[in-house]
Amino acid sequence: MAGAQCNICGGTEFEPFRGRPAEKCSTCGSLARHRIGWAVYSRHLLDTDAAKGRVLHLAPEAALYPLLRDALHAGYITADPSPDTYPHAPCIRLFFPRDFDIFPDGYFSAILHNHVLEHIPGHYGDHLRAFARLLAPGGTMIFSVPGPYKGMQTREGGEHLATDAERLEQFLQEDHFRLFGDDFIETLRALPGGAVVPDGIDDAIRAGVSVRPGKAPFFIWQRDG
Ligand SMILES: [Zn+2]
Repeated sequence: MAGAQCNICGGTEFEPFRGRPAEKCSTCGSLARHRIGWAVYSRHLLDTDAAKGRVLHLAPEAALYPLLRDALHAGYITADPSPDTYPHAPCIRLFFPRDFDIFPDGYFSAILHNHVLEHIPGHYGDHLRAFARLLAPGGTMIFSVPGPYKGMQTREGGEHLATDAERLEQFLQEDHFRLFGDDFIETLRALPGGAVVPDGIDDAIRAGVSVRPGKAPFFIWQRDG
């Protein structure tokens, strides 16, 4: 994509990643979902009141963590079940779904997670409801998942398969427990107490940061104020 520039580092060279052309920034290593993520946070989080409260960022990517750390306030919290995977960030150790219960209702003003939901065992509708419960009134969840894949219903249960090879075959990655389908957005829209907000990202914005048309869709769900 001629003229594309990384909105994270300003780099202008991109390289293939897992067969996807011009996916990875050669300078900072960001992938399409990181660049779109930053564009979405810039539009829907950083200048809002939600940015001033407790912001929970799960699996805090190396490309996004420094930007969010500098843009957010003392309430910025990073977490993962395996903090060692994220040496660049001061992750607290949280296992979902078990640790949903340690937080009271409305504890966070924003929750950010990219390609995390497919790693949580159980039923994703339960997880979405649990995240929604953790959001304060007016709070925002901004997130992404692989796909969702058109023409299929979500398939779950990868945690019950015996081997990584079976998960790779059925769920496309050794540690993925589900594949999201057409019901995903319906389930998100049906969550009580809030609404889906358009992300405002179009294909011109995508092209500007070397992201192919329609790729790296983000989802924003805002709790009623
Ligand atoms: Zn970059």
